[in-house]
Formats: sequence, C-alpha cells, structure tokens
Amino acid sequence: MILANKTAIVTGSTSGIGLGVARALAAEGANVMLNGFGDAAAIEQIRKDIAATGPGKAAYHPADMSKPAEIADLVARTAATLGSVDVVVNNAGIQHVAPVEDFPVERWDAIIAINLSSSFHTIRAALPLMKKAGWGRIINIASTHGLVASGHKTAYVAAKHGVLGLTKAVAIECANTGVTCNAICPGWVLTPLVQKQIEARAAEQKISVEQARNTLLGEKQPQLQFTTPEQLAALAVFLCSPAAANMQGSQLVSDGGWTAQ
Ligand code: NAD
Repeated sequence: MILANKTAIVTGSTSGIGLGVARALAAEGANVMLNGFGDAAAIEQIRKDIAATGPGKAAYHPADMSKPAEIADLVARTAATLGSVDVVVNNAGIQHVAPVEDFPVERWDAIIAINLSSSFHTIRAALPLMKKAGWGRIINIASTHGLVASGHKTAYVAAKHGVLGLTKAVAIECANTGVTCNAICPGWVLTPLVQKQIEARAAEQKISVEQARNTLLGEKQPQLQFTTPEQLAALAVFLCSPAAANMQGSQLVSDGGWTAQ
C-alpha cells in the first residue's frame, strides 16, 4: 500500500480512465476525491465502490473543470475533508471532431479549458500543499495527440501538446522538492469518449460499429489492441512509487506502436 494515509484527487473520475485510476489509487491505500459529471445515484455507487476498494475514504466533488474558481474549491475542500492533497491526476477531458475551418469556437474554448487549463489550475492550487509536505505526485493524462496530430482534432491536439509542455515546465519547478510531475500518453482506450467517435464513424461511413472500431484502431496502431484503463492505472501507481522518484517531466506512452511508426 504505497499510498496509505495519502490523498489523491482524480479529475473526471466518474467514467473511463479516471475511474480506473481512482480505483487503483484506492487499492494502494489512498483517500480519493472523485470528480466528474453523471447521474447522482450512479456517482454515489461509484463513491461507495471506491471506498470499499481500500482502507482510505472516498468523497466526491462536482467541480466543473472549465471553471477556475470551482477547481480551487475542489483542491481546498479535498484538503479540508480528507486531510491533505498528495496526488493530483489531471484526467478530465472532452473531444470534438470537425475540420478546422468549421470548428465551433465555443468547442475550442471548452476543450482548451477542460483538457489543458484545468491542469494548470489544479497544479497551481495543489503544488504549495505538496511542497509544504515535501512529497507529491502530479500526473497529467495527455495523449498520443500530445505527440502527433490527427486531422479534425485541432483543439484536442493543441490542448494535449500543451499538457506535455505544462508537464515539463512544472517538473522543472518541482525539482528537489519531493514533488514530481509526469504525463501518461494513451493511444486508443475503449471508453465512452472513444465509443462516441466509433458510433459517429459507423453512421457516417454506413458500416457496423464493430467495423468502425476495427478501422479506427488499425489506422493508427500497428498493434490492434485497446489500452485498458487498468493498464493506465498501473502506470499511475508506478509514478507514485519510489521507483519513479527521479522521473520529472516524463511521458509514459501506451499506444500499441502508434507513435513508433
Ligand atoms: P470519458 O468520457 O470516459 O471520461 C471523461 C471524464 O471527464 C468523465 O468523468 C467526465 O464526467 C469528466 N468531465 C468532462 N468534462 C468535465 C468537466 N467540465 N468538469 C469535470 N469533469 C468533466 O473519457 P476517457 O476516455 O476516460 O478520457 C479521460 C482522459 O484521457 C481525457 O483527458 C482524454 O483526453 C484522455 N485520453 C483518452 C483516450 C482514449 O482513447 N479514451 C486516449 C488518450 C487520452
């Protein structure tokens, strides 16, 4: 239990990758502050499940990660209710697919706010607490789209490149404080975010959902497997472990060879 008596905030943890990460950190003993949108009863069930996963507590805060004041409140309330803020996993994210000339300006603004600026705001609020404690782990969920581009994903690609820049810039400022800041870059993960893209592709190309899923994978990844939330959660646990104590500003990639080719 490498996170016993420690507290983690996982943004966007009501679904997909964030939920997997929250579960894994709880299994390592952490108190977990959950965040994200969804049906109230379903979120309460998730909170109970996470609380039952390990010896720590689980709480939920509905902060909208596009709103800086709500993000500051999320960090302050976590410290007040769970005792500290030792790990922050910046995971909340959204997607929009459209050609750049048709890209809705409000979607650009929302994607930059939720996928990039929210990480700056959580780090800005949590880093003083971590530095004071002399230990902290900041983990930013970036993407292969932080390393390479795909068409029709202008805001997402720009935001994820920004997340990797933010990770490196913060890592330098964390040096010799006991705090580390690193990123995880997943390729395709079969979560609701990607399922929506698969269904849109199936409708647009008049093919089955299964065909759309296979073509989506095959266009980018030599290895035809989705990375799972559990595999990414294991990387997050690793970044919290003593073995990763000297990793600063790194990018852990799990993408079936997407960025290797
Ligand atoms: P998902 O849609 O399953 O989960 C997204 C989570 O973010 C949900 O809990 C949702 O409620 C929350 N969220 C969205 N907007 C929010 C807001 N304004 N405030 C608070 N919470 C908000 O998506 P996912 O696939 O699990 O994606 C999680 C992260 O992983 C994202 O940053 C995404 O860019 C990244 N990622 C995903 C993939 C993939 O293939 N699924 C690949 C690379 C990177």
